[in-house]
Amino acid sequence: MRWLRRESLLCRLLLDSRNFVPAMPETPSESPSNRSPDPTFDRILVTAALPYANGPLHLGHLAGAYLPADLFCRYERLRGEDVVFVCGSDEMGVAIMVRARAEGISPQELVDRIHPQIEDAFRGFGMSFDHYGRTTSDTHRETSQDFFRTLARKGVFTTKTEKQLFDPEAGIFLADRFVVGTCPKCGNEKAYGDQCEKCGTALSPLELLDPRSTLSDATPELRETAHWYLPLADFQDRLTTWINSHPEWKPNVLGQIRSWLNDGLRERAITRDVPWGVPVPADVAREMGIGADGKVIYVWFDAPIGYISATREWAAGRGTPDAWRDYWQDPGSRLVHFIGKDNIVFHCLMFPAMLMAHGEYVLPENVPANEFLNIEGEKLSTSRGWAVWLHEYLAEFEPDLLRYALATTLPETKDADFNWAEFQTRVNSELADVLGNFVNRTMTFATRYFDGRVPPLSNPSDTDRAALAAIADFPDRIGSAYNTYKMREAVFQTMALARLGNKYFNDTEPWHTRRTNEEACANTIHVSLQICGALAVLIDPVLPFSAAKLRDMLQLRGVAPSAPRTAAASTGKQILWGDAAAPLLKTGAPLGTPHILFTKIDDDVIQTQTEKLHQNADSGAGTGAADAAPASATAPAPAPAPETPHPPVADEATFSDFMKLDFRMGTVLEAEPVPKSKKLLRMVIDLGFEKRQILAGVAGHHSPEDMVGRRVAVVANLAPRQMMGLESQGMVLMAEDRDGSLHPITSTGENGAVIR
Ligand SMILES: [Zn+2]
Repeated sequence: MRWLRRESLLCRLLLDSRNFVPAMPETPSESPSNRSPDPTFDRILVTAALPYANGPLHLGHLAGAYLPADLFCRYERLRGEDVVFVCGSDEMGVAIMVRARAEGISPQELVDRIHPQIEDAFRGFGMSFDHYGRTTSDTHRETSQDFFRTLARKGVFTTKTEKQLFDPEAGIFLADRFVVGTCPKCGNEKAYGDQCEKCGTALSPLELLDPRSTLSDATPELRETAHWYLPLADFQDRLTTWINSHPEWKPNVLGQIRSWLNDGLRERAITRDVPWGVPVPADVAREMGIGADGKVIYVWFDAPIGYISATREWAAGRGTPDAWRDYWQDPGSRLVHFIGKDNIVFHCLMFPAMLMAHGEYVLPENVPANEFLNIEGEKLSTSRGWAVWLHEYLAEFEPDLLRYALATTLPETKDADFNWAEFQTRVNSELADVLGNFVNRTMTFATRYFDGRVPPLSNPSDTDRAALAAIADFPDRIGSAYNTYKMREAVFQTMALARLGNKYFNDTEPWHTRRTNEEACANTIHVSLQICGALAVLIDPVLPFSAAKLRDMLQLRGVAPSAPRTAAASTGKQILWGDAAAPLLKTGAPLGTPHILFTKIDDDVIQTQTEKLHQNADSGAGTGAADAAPASATAPAPAPAPETPHPPVADEATFSDFMKLDFRMGTVLEAEPVPKSKKLLRMVIDLGFEKRQILAGVAGHHSPEDMVGRRVAVVANLAPRQMMGLESQGMVLMAEDRDGSLHPITSTGENGAVIR
């Protein structure tokens, strides 16, 4: 299918990758057994945003890009797909220079320290990268320079000479962050050249009054300097056509892109005068009559090329140096970028424009960007120390617990919240009580009463047959959710199989039939073991470490690895995802020793974590790393979209969905702050027929005094929920503006009045 590469770009664009069906017959060398099970694509290339190497990883990073990407890759590998999953540290850019300068070390020393820390934390969390690179590598320098050279020689770029501040003592041009001065808006004397942090005004260094260099304190001089630009307006039509061919993308992603397109794309500088970055290739600069001295490629341009460099390094590492082209340049490749919402414009407009301009690359099939993760109801802030750090988590807990808890609360279409109390509930009530308990009681029965072997199934009852038949649906149901980037749904459906197992076990009461009907008891354990067998495959994407333990207990061998295959991997027939639809365990097969899969977490352990979070924040124990930057592959962040869009309307609900919720009017009788929570108020609300304790995350917006006496609308039939050790028996409805401010919903109806 390489012939397509020489077809016009427009032709390729029209072949929307989703609908693309290979027009050529399969080549004879491709045996049916190694053909991709997805007929639309031959292989999958997955990228996760390059973490910026100026600080450690936190939960916001994981929820934005990394966990969803890993869930997707592990699922696709289990399905037998040819997957390459790449990532790497983004080590260039001014923010790294600033941080290194603050520590009194060189940028290289800084990234040499941070890169292995990030890599270790990823490994501990179970990230299944095929290759994790870094943008200071030789391969990356060559790849970025080649890309730049190709576009420059095709005449894609424009150049412009402009005046920029130069530090005459340090002898270099000053990046915005290296200029301080007085803000023309508010008079703050320590405003930076890109922004006044006091009043929030975006600035250019030339607007500052009394500018000074932060390097030498010298007064900067204006000097002329030439730079290359990418005229994005030239790509506006092609980008619009391409984006319009993807109505299936997530609404939060499309909303942001359309806002940028409506505003009109403008040219963007791709080079700058700073001493840390990938140097502009000297040959091209010479050809264009511009001195390349001290000029580097802007990080927003070189960082996404890091995905290509990482794929090249992966290919070279396995002795097939050209194999990277199959994933980047063959239309049979499905390219997926996992990112956080701060990176949408780079991955949906700028990088695609670069790929279009180059002409030899595929465009992403999807960019399933996530929104942000808050911590205990507040915006994550690394500078304020309001964050949960991955390396600290891994020092105390198993990775699978966090993978599961985060996967159930991913910010897929709107911001989501991580809190320790809910983490505890997920672990104790779901992993331990449902999944762990089901496996444990099944294994214990099999060991105690059936000689540690799979008992036979004979004369199965309708209940037995129904349970076995129910397993068959799960691989497709869970799989189609993963394949369409609905990770929360996939994990929910996975746990539904464990719930089904538990219910079946309870309904068939093997502890009774053991004495009264041994055949029925054997059937229960046989069927329960088959459900455990299916779970041992289907939980693997989200709980890879526990899945391996479960397979060990069941002595289930030959399941395809969800992590990258090693060279020594067996070539025999493997159990794939779809095989979990049918029973995987043979009657009479020996089982391993039962172990507890998940241990419950005590209240005091959670209490310690909550206290630690508050202490770090109170002491301002931030990292000094860039704030609110889950996975900043392409720092610096762009200016925000012209206007914050309204959040997309939720998926359609039926009338009966709506009628399931019971809304009532009530009056707030008492309100008080919840100790140790900056967000929650505890309220007692009179619903006419009873009084309820309800916790609401409104403390930043309304004082307790302000809430007492207010008439509010309440969701009266929500399941009670534990927060900060208190039970919340419902929810108070609030209207939320786009800036996050909250307004109670009210009415003159009596307490207890039904709202519909
Ligand atoms: Zn200001």
